Amino acid sequence: MNFGPSAPLVGNGPYNRGGKHYISDRTEPYNQNPVFFSHPANLGQIAPYIFLLLDVFIIDTHTHIYLPEFDADRDDMLQRAISRGVQRMLMPNIDIASIDSMLAVAAKWPLHCFPMLGLHPCSVPDEPGPLLEQIGELFEENHWVAVGETGIDLYWDKSRIGQQRESFRRHIEWSLRYNLPLVIHARESFHEIFVLLEEKPYPGLTGVFHCFSGDAETAAKCLSFEGFMLGIGGVLTYKKAGLPEVLKEVPITRIVLETDAPYLSPVPFRGKRNEPSYLMYVLDELSKVYELSPEEIALQTTSNATRLFTRIP
Ligand SMILES: [Zn+2]
Repeated sequence: MNFGPSAPLVGNGPYNRGGKHYISDRTEPYNQNPVFFSHPANLGQIAPYIFLLLDVFIIDTHTHIYLPEFDADRDDMLQRAISRGVQRMLMPNIDIASIDSMLAVAAKWPLHCFPMLGLHPCSVPDEPGPLLEQIGELFEENHWVAVGETGIDLYWDKSRIGQQRESFRRHIEWSLRYNLPLVIHARESFHEIFVLLEEKPYPGLTGVFHCFSGDAETAAKCLSFEGFMLGIGGVLTYKKAGLPEVLKEVPITRIVLETDAPYLSPVPFRGKRNEPSYLMYVLDELSKVYELSPEEIALQTTSNATRLFTRIP
C-alpha cells in the first residue's frame, strides 16, 4: 500500500469540492440529516467556522474510552463526541483484563466504537509466552479492526526490553496473518522499533506510529515505511514539543487523528482528562499548520484513516 506523496489527496469517493459542501459516496444510516459540527469553545453561538457537514466526520484512531476514567459519564461523553462529528472511535487494547470492558463498549456502540487486540508494551510480563498465546487465539474472533497497541516503551521500564521485543515481533506476525494494521507505541524507543521493523522484509505491513512526537528526521524515517501513518493528537498543541515545525515536512496524506484519551489532553485542557470531542482542538491546530480549512483537514484525515483501517464502516 502506498501512502506516499503520490497517493490521492482525498480518498475513494466522488467529492463535490465546488461549493461549501463536501459530499462523499457514503450513506450513513444515522446521519441522514445535515449535522452542525462546531468548535467546542463556541458551542451555543455561531462559531467562525461552524461547518455544515452532509457527511464529513472525523475518526479518533486511538482512544481508551473503555477505561474506568469514563465509567461515570461514558454515554454522555460519547454522545458529545458524536454530536461534534467524531463518528468513529478506535479502541487500542492494553492487556488481557481490559478486553471485556472494551468489547462491552463496542457492543453498546456498534456504529461508532471499534476494538483492537494487542498487549501494551508496559503490560508485557516477565514470561510473555503464555499470555501472547492466549491473546493470539482471540484473533480468530472476527471483530478486531487493528493489532495493538504494541511497541517498545523504554521510559517506564528498561528491564524488560527482551520481552517487549518478543511481544512486538508477535504483533507484527498477527498484523500480517490477519491483514490488520499495526498500532505502534514508541516511547524513547524509535531506534529499537526501526531495528525490529527492518529485521526482515515485511511486505504489505501497514500501521500507525501512534502519538507521534519525534523530530523531523524521525518523522522521515517513520514515513519511509510506506504503509504507515503518523497519529497526531494533543501534543501538537504543546508549545515546547515543536511538532508544528516537524509536520511542515509531513504530507497531510500521511496523518491520522487521535486523542489517546484519557491521556494527553490538548491545550486548553492539558493535565485534565482527555476525551474524543477534544479532537476539535487538534483539528484547529492542524488547520493552521497546513493552511487548510478544518473541513479539508477532517476530510483528508478521515480518508487516510479509512484507507488504513479497512475494517471500519
Ligand atoms: Zn494508547
